[in-house]
Amino acid sequence: MRSFLPPVRTLMGPGPSDVHPRILEALARPTIGHLDPQFVRMMDELKSLIQYGFQTKNELTIPVSAPGSAGMQTCFDNLVEPGDKVLVCQNGVFGGRMIENVVRAGGEVVIVEDPWGKPVDPQKVKDALKANSDIKLVAMVHAETSTGVESDVTEISKLAHSHGALLIVDAVTSLGGIPVLVDEWNVDAIYSGSQKCLSCTPGLSPVSFSDEAVARLKSRKTKVNSWFLDLSLVMGYWGEGAKRTYHHTAPVNPLYALHEAYVILKEEGLENAWARHKKNHLALRAGLEAMGLEFVVDEKYRLPQLNAVSIPEGVDDAAIRSTLLNDYSLEIGAGLGVFAGKVWRIGLMGHASSRKNVLFCLSALETVLSKVKAPISKGAAVDKAAAVYNA
Ligand SMILES: *Cc1c(COP(=O)(O)O)cnc(C)c1O
Repeated sequence: MRSFLPPVRTLMGPGPSDVHPRILEALARPTIGHLDPQFVRMMDELKSLIQYGFQTKNELTIPVSAPGSAGMQTCFDNLVEPGDKVLVCQNGVFGGRMIENVVRAGGEVVIVEDPWGKPVDPQKVKDALKANSDIKLVAMVHAETSTGVESDVTEISKLAHSHGALLIVDAVTSLGGIPVLVDEWNVDAIYSGSQKCLSCTPGLSPVSFSDEAVARLKSRKTKVNSWFLDLSLVMGYWGEGAKRTYHHTAPVNPLYALHEAYVILKEEGLENAWARHKKNHLALRAGLEAMGLEFVVDEKYRLPQLNAVSIPEGVDDAAIRSTLLNDYSLEIGAGLGVFAGKVWRIGLMGHASSRKNVLFCLSALETVLSKVKAPISKGAAVDKAAAVYNA
């Protein structure tokens, strides 16, 4: 046995994204105790940085010590009681996982379905609420990573609240790449992930609960299903002021990394980060379209950080991706679910959303597709993308 030395990749899939070198350096800093006063000071800073990222004043704003899926489960386990009726909007893989979470928490699911590649339709949500007066929670995915679609949170938030329901939002892929405005949009529970547009290592999930969500949690008649994710216990460690008590050993070094990721985001500024994601998306798009590749999602709902394009006729999906990985050390994403074998998902998330990566990906993809005689137009992609930067 020897040390594991991973290759250096360019990560342009659905996450993890390229990790910023400053974040890797932060991980290597000395480990201290999870109740060390210096660590507690860092935790307080981190909470305020997470509030900044979510654009919220919510007091209950912390990183869950586990990946985005655990952030999802935290929201459902804490807010769903057995017998509660929950409306879940499903337009891809992650809405499906929300349904699983509701069922396992003992809730009753009402599903509003939209096709893959389309956003959640507010009219359908409105109709479902009308037909089910006892819905207590509405849940939706803001940025559906399986398809590259953005759904409008504001409309659905209004509908949920006018019905007296709370709103859970999945912002795993959206946070840092496009606006996520928790207070302005009146979101009650939100979760994200460290490894997408925050460009941190995987394994942590920032979450935030509104005062209304906290009140719902406090008035539960039953215990939260999961001991580990029960926020009323977790807050004994993460809570403000009061003496911190041991709940679980916090992932000390990964939390340094997450802190660094947010410091980098704050230095750049959210608005600038959103503008950078947009610009790189437009350049990538110009290049892909110059090759003749087509986007799956209508321009209006397209995510700049997750570009879903149709695989050209007759092209072997897996062979192209493995050539990109082996010859260029470049990872792009395969299609998921309904889109498996039909679509590539090219991520431009966080630190990976750069001019260098856009131009590199276009030239690698063009070379590899040309070699297998794929039906694409050659020679224009990189120039078209460069023109977007030079405009
Ligand atoms: C990646 C992702 C998740 C799950 O996050 P993990 O860190 O893989 O557990 C949840 N929702 C969306 C929209 C995602 O893209």
